[in-house]
This record gives sequence, C-alpha cells and structure tokens, in this order.
Amino acid sequence: MRIIFRVVMQVFFLASFCLAQDHDFSKVEIKVTRVAGSVYMLQGAGGNIGACVGEDGIVVVDDQYAPLAEKIQAALKGITDKPVRFIINTHYHLDHTGGNEFFQKQGPIIAHDNVRKRLEEGSAAGNGASMHVEHKPQPKGALPIITFDHEVTVHLNGEDIRALHFPAGHTDGDSVIYFPKANVVHMGDDFVTYGFPFIDVDGGGSIDGMISGVEGAIAQLPADVKVIPGHGPISNLDDVRAYVKMLKDTRAVVQDGLRKQMTLEQMKEKKVLDPWKKYSGDFVSEDAFLETLYNSLTGQKNSKFIKHN
Ligand SMILES: [Zn+2]
Repeated sequence: MRIIFRVVMQVFFLASFCLAQDHDFSKVEIKVTRVAGSVYMLQGAGGNIGACVGEDGIVVVDDQYAPLAEKIQAALKGITDKPVRFIINTHYHLDHTGGNEFFQKQGPIIAHDNVRKRLEEGSAAGNGASMHVEHKPQPKGALPIITFDHEVTVHLNGEDIRALHFPAGHTDGDSVIYFPKANVVHMGDDFVTYGFPFIDVDGGGSIDGMISGVEGAIAQLPADVKVIPGHGPISNLDDVRAYVKMLKDTRAVVQDGLRKQMTLEQMKEKKVLDPWKKYSGDFVSEDAFLETLYNSLTGQKNSKFIKHN
C-alpha cells in the first residue's frame, strides 16, 4: 500500500510539475484573460503567465514550458503586435522558466540572483522527503541576463512594474511582481490555489519565509488588488489571507509536535494535519505537506547544500 502510494505521488508530482519530455503539450491551449488595465493572464500548462501590454511593448512574467513557447507567442500576438521587451521570472522552477531561451531572443530576462544561479548550476527541487524533481543545468541563453538582490522596477507602458524579492519562501529566489497602475500583483508560487503549497525546501525555500513573504507582500498592496496566483484562478487578498492563516495554523501544529518531541512518523500516524485535509491535493498531499513543514522547521534537506544567499 505504501509503495503504491509513493508511486502515485510521484506520478502526480511529475504531472503537475512535469519534465518537458514526459508530457504531451500538443493539446495544451493557451487561455488569455484580461485581469485589469494593461495586465493579462495567460494559462496553458505550468505556472500562470502575466503580461503587461501597452504602447512600449510587452513585459512577460514567467514563460511556462519550452514546448509551449510558440503557442504563448501566438497568444501574445493575439493581444498586440508590439514586441516582447522584458521577461521576469518569479523563480527558477521549470514550469515557470521553460520558455526562457525562446523569449530571451526577443528581450532580456530579469530575475533574482538565485534564479540565475540555480538555472545555471542545476538544482534539486523537493520537500526533503517524498517530493523530488531534478532540474538540469540550463544553457546560457536561458539564464537571466539582468539579476537583482532586493528589487527592481521596469518603467514601461506607463506602469512602474516592481519585482520584489522575499527571501526563502517557495524557493530562495522568489519575486512578487506588482503592477501599481493596473492594481494587479503576480505572486509567483508564494501563493497558489491548488491546496497545500509545494515549498522547495531543497531549493532554499521554507515555511517561515513563505509566511513572512506573503505577509510582507500583503502589507504593501492595496486592499482591492487583483491577485494572479502562481497556479490557479484570479484571486483577491482575502483568499491570500485565508491561505496565510492555513500556513500559520499548520506550522503551529507541527511546532507543537516538535516541542513534544514527536517524530515525523508519529505526527503522520496521529494525522495532525487532518483538520486542514480540504487542502490535501493530488500534487501536495497531507503527508507531503507534513514532511515539508517538519523538514523546514528542523532544517532537514535532501540536496547537497549550495549556498545561494
Ligand atoms: Zn514553483
């Protein structure tokens, strides 16, 4: 039973976060939604794409998988004939950066320093336990040409598009992208709607950083901002607050277990996250999230330690 469960987990993990060669992208269609003002959301497979479109051209946030790049390009052409000027990566995962090499021929990619490092060196993404996806080193053309440590602003289309880095959340290179004039924010994978989030503990992410990052973002955003999650439909700040509450409540339960010197296996047997089981999903199950919290709070990692920030 346990072995079957692990195999199923692995399949789901790869399905949600799939390696290009394992997935049939031919049937994927790119859906375009206008979020507000100059900002659009594109959905295909992988992370949500943001696009700021205007007289100066297009600023793209994330680019999904390499085999979808031409479809994404065609969807952008459906909005405007203007060129792609810049691409911003919210983090290094291959479901957000796969189109980098294709799009960087049109405009430079901007990302946090650690995104470039992890794309260049390759990285083991995982929760320190059952979830694990190897990211191979990427070719030079896919590496962000412009990197920053704290924040950067792109002034185009009458917008002041701000990329704000929050440390050690979903990964160690996350940025939240805020479009003040349109009143839209792209949260990257620090906020997702598929249930318990994946936290890349092996890639420098942590539960504490994810909570403080999302709370830090909320503090800087207007109450009525429209929220593009890393994955899922357009949301609002109440959705984000409910998500942070779940993160804090589940963290507290595991911290309590650690104070009582419970092992991971004991917490699994006791099903300490059962009150939040509606968040248990195909991608991150209750047990997988428990492993994530446990490994994050106790500092356990699977990958060889690479110091990135
Ligand atoms: Zn991600």
